[in-house]
Amino acid sequence: MNERVQAAINDQINAELYSAYIYLAMAAQFEAMNLQGFAHWMRHQAEEEREHAMRLFNHLVRRGARVVLKGIAEPPLEFGTPLETFQKALAHEQHITKRIHDLYALAQEVGDYPAQLELHWFIDEQVEEEENTGRVVELLKLAGDNAGALLLLDRELAKRSDEDH
Ligand code: MG
Repeated sequence: MNERVQAAINDQINAELYSAYIYLAMAAQFEAMNLQGFAHWMRHQAEEEREHAMRLFNHLVRRGARVVLKGIAEPPLEFGTPLETFQKALAHEQHITKRIHDLYALAQEVGDYPAQLELHWFIDEQVEEEENTGRVVELLKLAGDNAGALLLLDRELAKRSDEDH
């Protein structure tokens, strides 16, 4: 396997694990705010990120390449209001999308077809991640300063299940 692709996928494993960590930190903040539905949504998101890391982990293993785990950076403690928190989550997903696209461009450049196929799943997943997170941002904008609307949204987000993405 091409060494640059291998190194880039290892870096992406780290980025996905950091994503899990950042969403877990957001879940902790929502728990502290007594917004358990928002916290549930973030816990679910964190779990998905761990699965993303494992997909890439398994891709390297299946191709006889070495997985190299690096330190995971400390996430922030506070993210602001629920709207600010979800805006940060959306900005983070946009950053991850760019990383995936750069990784795909590299796989194309060196002619790594299996990596390209694996990354097709991630490209599609990123469209969904931005869609889901962006939807909550828009709903939070609609809720504005209305506490009743915020609590209603908290109840809706509590319903996110394993069948959803
Ligand atoms: Mg991810």
